[in-house]
Amino acid sequence: EPAPLTDLEIARRATLRPITEIAEAVGIPAEALELYGSYKAKIDPAKLGAGFEEPRGQVVLVTAMSPTPAGEGKSTLTVGLADALAKAGHKTMVAIREPSLGPILGMKGGATGGGYSQVLPMDDINLHFTGDFHAITSANNALMALVDNHIYQGNALGIDPRRLTFRRVLDMNDRALRQVVIGLGGPTQGVPREAGFDITVASEVMAVFCLASGPADLKARLSRITVGYTYDRQPVTVADLGVQGALAMLLKDAIKPNLVQTIAGTPAFVHGGPFANIAHGCNSLLATQTARRLADVVVTEAGFGSDLGAEKFMDIKARVGGFAPSAIVVLATIRSLKMHGGIPKDQLKEPNLEAVQAGIANLERHVDNAAKFGLTPVVAINKFTSDSPEELDWVLDWCRQKGVEAAVADVWGQGGGGTGGDALAAKVAQVLQQQQSFSPLYDLDLTVEKKIETIAQQIYGADHVEFTGPARKRLAEIEANGWGKLPVCMAKTQYSFTDDPSVLGAPSGFTITVRDLIPKTGAGFIVALTGDVMTMPGLPKEPAAGRMDVDDDGVITGLF
Ligand code: ADP
Repeated sequence: EPAPLTDLEIARRATLRPITEIAEAVGIPAEALELYGSYKAKIDPAKLGAGFEEPRGQVVLVTAMSPTPAGEGKSTLTVGLADALAKAGHKTMVAIREPSLGPILGMKGGATGGGYSQVLPMDDINLHFTGDFHAITSANNALMALVDNHIYQGNALGIDPRRLTFRRVLDMNDRALRQVVIGLGGPTQGVPREAGFDITVASEVMAVFCLASGPADLKARLSRITVGYTYDRQPVTVADLGVQGALAMLLKDAIKPNLVQTIAGTPAFVHGGPFANIAHGCNSLLATQTARRLADVVVTEAGFGSDLGAEKFMDIKARVGGFAPSAIVVLATIRSLKMHGGIPKDQLKEPNLEAVQAGIANLERHVDNAAKFGLTPVVAINKFTSDSPEELDWVLDWCRQKGVEAAVADVWGQGGGGTGGDALAAKVAQVLQQQQSFSPLYDLDLTVEKKIETIAQQIYGADHVEFTGPARKRLAEIEANGWGKLPVCMAKTQYSFTDDPSVLGAPSGFTITVRDLIPKTGAGFIVALTGDVMTMPGLPKEPAAGRMDVDDDGVITGLF
């Protein structure tokens, strides 16, 4: 039997249509289209014209159970489900995030889907794409250069170099830059201070970019970013430095959503890309809302499980955007069920019904979480070739007994444009006909402390939340500065409902420890750091980079 084709080989064999045709099919006028070659374009939402004023499309959110380190196939399923809905006659678009180079070169690989459910051109999208991450990184680092220069040039604002909260960023997993000392070398090299780097996807500029409703709101949000505090403990904002105009200028093209296509020719926006464990975890609001102006159904994804991406999608993004999701798909895999049933990572391919049964508690908590937002979940089992019929049937049966709609999806193997997503699309289409009663989990009027407790207890299943000494001080500062009404953006491991990645399944009776809180006043949320989660990831012992190559003709190999 020949080896199955890699994602890259499948992508290379697909026939792409010119992006102008893809745009035309959803009615995007030529004036709104800014071409980046033949297969990529940016869309100017301000130029869509008559008939596309209001965001009307229904939103389908794809979330998942707690993942294995390889990823459970959420992007794959998002793309495949959209293709299947399009095939069934729904005017459908995809809205997903742009990949970060950190995981590409590190462990996880790309973020353009897989098998026969991918967005194309996958190598372009995975590598630099239309330059948005460059623009976001530049805007972020321009701000830090301006702050350090302000301090060096006499520090008229009285910024305390020891109390800066904003950091430089890089789109790379680079643990060596987590903590650095800058400004060394004498009087003309700046003011020495401790500093550090985050990965670009954790930048507040990324969050601002992804929550802005348009160029004016982008500038307003940038101006509200807090960079640190003065010697007398007053917050210093971008507006105090007067550089929001320059930062907005650096982002003026990046902010326009990127249009590409799926293997089946469904139009897809791939735009913005915060991680869901250290940031809010979904594509730009502007891309989602623009897609809702163009299509009847928008299939989108929020990173990792319902405890991370989905919770933030509901409590941050949907709230800011003023829309309600119409359906939520909870992805499960047999291999992840086995892992939560206690099987080591190297044995997940062997049939083991008992382990699947033991791991189902993890899926159950994610399914129950959907209902906490007033939404009817649909379970999608992303089929792998190693899954046995007994295992798949048992999970379907379990769902039936729980009263939850479920379907096996083989969009990786067959494509959503083929038959792999038909059963799932039919279930989702049914839910889209039903009235949902969406509401965010918590009220913004609660204190920050109470909001964190609500998320930890209701969504994670924790008993209570402990705040370390420094975190308690921050809580007081946040309330005193008038930021207490902002929503919370939890930073937590994706592997566990707890803050310890080794605790699998559906644990109870645990404590979540919040060790620090970072007000992101531009993005408009408070980040709560739990466990050891890092805003600058590191590379694994054998990075994926070791398997990658490009030949003299520019042909890439090893990009998964
Ligand atoms: P996520 O979005 O959940 O992180 P992705 O969709 O990026 O996951 O998929 C992660 C990797 O798993 C990709 O390389 C993809 O090709 C692969 N994959 C996804 N679904 C399947 C499947 N059903 N069978 C085999 N490989 C899959």
